[in-house]
Amino acid sequence: GGSFGDRLVAGLNPQQREAVEYRGQSLLIVAGAGSGKTSVLTRRIAGLIDSGEAWPSQILAITFTNKAAAEMRERVAQLIGQSSEGMWISTFHSACVRILRREAEQFGFTKSFTIYDSADSRALLKRILKELDADSLGFTVSQASGKISKLKNELSDVESYSRQINLGDPQEVMFLEIFRQYTRELQRANAFDFDDLIAQTVYLFRAFPHVAAVYQRRFRHILVDEYQDTNHAQYALIRELTRPVDPELVEDLERGGQFVASLRDGSGRIPGASLTVVGDSDQSIYAFRGADIRNITEFEHDFPNSKVILLEQNYRSTQNILDAANAVIANNFDRQAKNLFTTVGSGDKITGFTGYTGHDEAQFVADEIATLHDDGMAYKDMAVFYRTNSQTRALEEIFIRSAIPYRVLGGTKFYERAEIKDAMAYLISVANPADPMALRRIMNVPKRGIGPATETALQRYADQHEVGLRDALRNASELGLGPKVTGAITGLAKLLDDVSATSATAPVSDILTALIEGSGIVDALRASRDPQDEARAENIDELVAVTREFQKNNPEGTLLDFLTEVTLVAAADDLDDSSGTVSLMTLHTAKGLEYEAVFLTGVEEDLLPHRMSASEPGGPAEERRLFYVGITRARKKLFLSLAMTRAQFGEVNVAMPSRYLQEIPVELIDWKQSPGMATSRGGTQPRALNARRDGGLGGDSGGFGGRARAGGGFGGGSYDRATAASKTKPKTEWANRVTGTVRDNGDLELEAGDRISHVDFGEGRVVAVTGVGPRRIAEVQFDTAGRKKLLIKVAPIEKV
Ligand code: ATP
Ligand code: MG
Repeated sequence: GGSFGDRLVAGLNPQQREAVEYRGQSLLIVAGAGSGKTSVLTRRIAGLIDSGEAWPSQILAITFTNKAAAEMRERVAQLIGQSSEGMWISTFHSACVRILRREAEQFGFTKSFTIYDSADSRALLKRILKELDADSLGFTVSQASGKISKLKNELSDVESYSRQINLGDPQEVMFLEIFRQYTRELQRANAFDFDDLIAQTVYLFRAFPHVAAVYQRRFRHILVDEYQDTNHAQYALIRELTRPVDPELVEDLERGGQFVASLRDGSGRIPGASLTVVGDSDQSIYAFRGADIRNITEFEHDFPNSKVILLEQNYRSTQNILDAANAVIANNFDRQAKNLFTTVGSGDKITGFTGYTGHDEAQFVADEIATLHDDGMAYKDMAVFYRTNSQTRALEEIFIRSAIPYRVLGGTKFYERAEIKDAMAYLISVANPADPMALRRIMNVPKRGIGPATETALQRYADQHEVGLRDALRNASELGLGPKVTGAITGLAKLLDDVSATSATAPVSDILTALIEGSGIVDALRASRDPQDEARAENIDELVAVTREFQKNNPEGTLLDFLTEVTLVAAADDLDDSSGTVSLMTLHTAKGLEYEAVFLTGVEEDLLPHRMSASEPGGPAEERRLFYVGITRARKKLFLSLAMTRAQFGEVNVAMPSRYLQEIPVELIDWKQSPGMATSRGGTQPRALNARRDGGLGGDSGGFGGRARAGGGFGGGSYDRATAASKTKPKTEWANRVTGTVRDNGDLELEAGDRISHVDFGEGRVVAVTGVGPRRIAEVQFDTAGRKKLLIKVAPIEKV
């Protein structure tokens, strides 16, 4: 029974309820992980619509990923029992693209602008650096792109930047020139890069108040999830959108046919939109991309008379998982103490695992996943996290071999494949004839005899006549090239022009099919003798299927809509749904998500915290927050794993357990390790943790330094794959073999010819010894187990 409003808040705790029902101008909800921030936002939206306080079209909700947006839209529709059509629930980027598509003509772009992804903007920068000979001054593409991105996130443009710099410094002048050229080329190409999407929307609103007024009137309620990770440009955008509409412009709006009567207040103004933001400073993990935590800490100052609500009860995880999370994050200074609690009970202990190699670690993950699955947990409820994308290879290999269905979120994927980029470049060339980047990409795909010299000739023609590259193609006959090349070029120009003529109305799948048939791109792949090319042709077929699917879901959708969706989705997350597969992703991608079981892998120094973070101010604290984000994704089961040695870039490195592991109270973790890694020298401390507790490597472990540490952990030895790979192997056997301490053969003298004995492989003869110190490696010909390379320091070997 009860009204919808009652049902909407049923089951919520009093603070959550207040957050759903509060009706002031601005509301900040700060709370730890899993406390219902996102749920509360969703219910607020449902409540506003259902009570008639707002039409769906008056709501703008900002989420961090497209996936989160889709989930929120679905939840709202479920709650209110009707479609949420007209409501804007999207990422900052998607919302800005929608605005720019409508308004770009106001400031020298057209609505068919291209969005350059980071690969596109790097390609453009590379060309500019070369033209300016900037590498002679030490500029690299990464550096330049990082700096430009930073400036744009701070809303600096070429002009304002030129006023800040020292014109006597050749470095700064060179960078200014790079920035200027880059900006000019984007403008010429009718293109925006990712950072522009936000920054240019802010400029648009500031430079054209009558445009801003349209959106200020439209959005009456703005809600932002993950506010702790907004940067300055995003903050400025929110500020512009929540301003009251200028009274003079209210009349303009009315004259323009926009309904305003009921929105006016006593003084004839339209008051600013209400703003609700939710966030958790402990989960701020994007400082490296310009996210500014001050957006949260200064919210009350920036939006006077705002209300702040704290949520403390966690509804996601067991108490053991929360205790671990609380203990870890307590080591960060400069934070508001908060302690998450739950009423669901302590749950299982966390499982720790130390593998001899990254491969062993991956095998452990696969075995545990198989066990959980046998016990009835669905694959889609499990996730594996890692700090860097390079860690996926070992995991994928073993998952494939163990027939575990998985998918990688946000890695190299469909839209990054060369053939898909080619096909997309055809579509972009049709949509945006001014874009030379897309045109260059397809000029000789499939091969039509247009080489670099011809391309240069075309570009020269374009420069001389001050026209675009596309015009140069159209006029190729004036270039005095051979008849065959000229024919190929004008043929391409004609194909693009013909298809462009229909592109405003034709279904995207028809447009793509016309381009594929006209260009012969798939035919060429099918005719090729390279076995990979058949797979490439199939991928393009798959893209055609994607366009059909798009058309089905968006009957009115145009080519531009399709390109927008693809560019933004490909950049942030996946189109696929996750039913029936284990999800693999970086810790950054994991934000906001939750799973029954979480595997957090590579919990080692140099990976977590990442090596690069050491040189950044605040780096290690941000890495700790990343670890905290990872832990708090887990509902019931948490696995923390590491490897003692990790192969990277063809080199085997000795890894140390992450400093963050020792911050977790010992009684919360059950340690396991690769079979054969134990020695019988007693003790149960992972060596490196021990060393640190003794003061060796410590320093930032806060109040936990004196406690006893987790048992098991680091040992020496090799993982017997034949038996370990089978998930039937009893786990207790592993545990029983862990008597604990770390083997250290650091001083074992070995040379070619010596005979040794190995716990798992039996006896053998040393063939060669390479490397120095802790990286010494013995190559051993075992009598029965074949030839193997062992890291001497930790391998379970003895001389015989
Ligand atoms: P994060 O910081 O990770 O983004 P969050 O604060 O946004 O987390 P939610 O994702 O909204 O938290 O909620 C976490 C889980 O708790 C969800 O599964 C949600 O459905 C559930 N939940 C939230 N509030 C309640 C409640 N009052 N009763 C039962 N379950 C709840
Ligand atoms: Mg959330």
